[in-house]
Amino acid sequence: MSLTPSALAPTPHIGPSHHLFYASLFRREEWLHRLTRAFEPWVDRTWAEARARLEGSFKRRFARLDGNRLEEMIDDRPVDSFLESLSKDLEAYEHNLFDLIAAHHVRTSPDEDGSSWLRDLEEASMLWGRQLAQECLLAPAADRIAHGGPYGTRTVFGLLESIQSVWLGGNYAWRPILVRRYTREELEFEPRACAHCRPDFVSPRSAELSCRMEALLIRGFARALTPHVDHNRIRGASYCMDRFIINS
Ligand SMILES: [Zn+2]
Repeated sequence: MSLTPSALAPTPHIGPSHHLFYASLFRREEWLHRLTRAFEPWVDRTWAEARARLEGSFKRRFARLDGNRLEEMIDDRPVDSFLESLSKDLEAYEHNLFDLIAAHHVRTSPDEDGSSWLRDLEEASMLWGRQLAQECLLAPAADRIAHGGPYGTRTVFGLLESIQSVWLGGNYAWRPILVRRYTREELEFEPRACAHCRPDFVSPRSAELSCRMEALLIRGFARALTPHVDHNRIRGASYCMDRFIINS
């Protein structure tokens, strides 16, 4: 074994919670890419230039988030600093992208409904949520994150654990949700990191768009994971509220 500088560098301590959080960032980035692809059939010629500017300003930062293992992507910083910085970059990219979409004048023909582009984005969000749930269900039993007793993911516990682990990155970050109601059939939580609560979303329109798309992703995820679940995200005065009811 050669003692190259990289071989001599201390190995950062990376634990399961770091991997979980890193994976959730990758899934969020993929969600944003899918929304972008769903929006592109509706754009006019000004979009390409605006999007290229946005991508250009984040390209170098996202070189560290490409689906490879965290050990391969981390630089010489402590893992917590690395992940925090990556998370902040992704948040900044997200609000810039939603600002761009919300401000863009879509190209529609006379017979097209002006909200069709919105339906395409909603569908892309629901589908990505569904796909994440299917990956979760296909995971080997030993690796399955949601193991809420004999009914597995079909319980409120399984649903909550799965959303937290797969979409919100587990407990690594500050708890991004506040559970308000938790019974055998019902679950309510405030998504405290929803765009309505994030100061970087300065445009109410883009905050509304982001919140709505994330709610649909969670709905697609929940329905694929837990049959017979109803989900709604309700806009409150201070926080939004995700409400699930499992119908037996
Ligand atoms: Zn919201």
